[in-house]
Amino acid sequence: MKIAILSQDSSLYSTRRLKEAGEEREHQIRVIPYLRCYMNITSRRPSIIFNGTPLENFDAVIPRIGASRTFYGTAVVRQFEVMGVFSANESQAISRSRDKLRCMQILAREGVGLPVTGFAHATQDIDGLIETVGGAPLVIKLLEGTQGIGVVLAETYQAAKSVIEAFRGLDANILVQEYIKEAGGADIRCFVVGGEVIAAMKRQGAKGEFRSNLHRGGNAEKIDLSVEERTTAIKAAKAMGLNVAGVDLLRSNHGPVIMEVNSSPGLEGIEKATEMDVAGKIIEYVVQNAEPNNVKDSIK
Ligand code: ADP
Ligand code: GLU
Repeated sequence: MKIAILSQDSSLYSTRRLKEAGEEREHQIRVIPYLRCYMNITSRRPSIIFNGTPLENFDAVIPRIGASRTFYGTAVVRQFEVMGVFSANESQAISRSRDKLRCMQILAREGVGLPVTGFAHATQDIDGLIETVGGAPLVIKLLEGTQGIGVVLAETYQAAKSVIEAFRGLDANILVQEYIKEAGGADIRCFVVGGEVIAAMKRQGAKGEFRSNLHRGGNAEKIDLSVEERTTAIKAAKAMGLNVAGVDLLRSNHGPVIMEVNSSPGLEGIEKATEMDVAGKIIEYVVQNAEPNNVKDSIK
């Protein structure tokens, strides 16, 4: 098969591993920096041009779209879909997954376990907002934050109030969440491919740190999931419409609760922690599903 990996950086671990796993299975793999493509959206003859040549006869694409490149990246994926090319994750699902609040609203509607969460922009009723999540201690997040930056644990009511006031001054969208103390500064990354959890790791924050992000100095190890954790992760990926997803959850005393569903989950952490061939699983999934016009979500 002829497979395109849409990635801006061919030296990234995830990109390299996907290329390698595809080539090991005798597929033709090309890494395409999607920002350098342009598109012809003329009726009936949609095309994508890269380096002066149309990208033709691809059986599948594997999008690895950076969070800051969602707009143009998903447009390129959508163009492949219009051309009838199968995508490991569809453009609609990627766009959907990039909006944290939208994700939580969809997951809530599907009955997936979530931390008790409030959402606000410029409320005057800070007391009411703090009360919705059961008071302090609580976690306050800037909606636009990533890698644990903009995530604050407020131990007391007073601290919570000051942080919310400060964030309100930034004209920011904020999430207020019950603090899952029993998670012990750890979270679980479930790697879902084609409706199955193919690998899972526990990430533990650095000592004295409640955030488990590897970027914040945490470490990761392989972990066995409970049946409930497994089904929660699968349900979350399905609700988002993602075939390939990194589902992050916390172990709370009211069961697994979802933190985030990632549509371009990194491969390095999970492959190193679990010694699984995650890239190979993605390639195999894509090869099995790469029929022309296998696009589920309408692009409308
Ligand atoms: P980011 O998207 O920036 O990584 P997260 O919302 O995933 O931010 O939070 C970063 C980390 O902080 C999580 O992986 C988790 O370990 C910890 N954390 C976040 N929210 C909570 C919470 N409500 N209770 C306990 N720990 C939390
Ligand atoms: N950006 C990658 C991801 O979301 C790596 C983050 C991490 O594993 O901590 O999967």
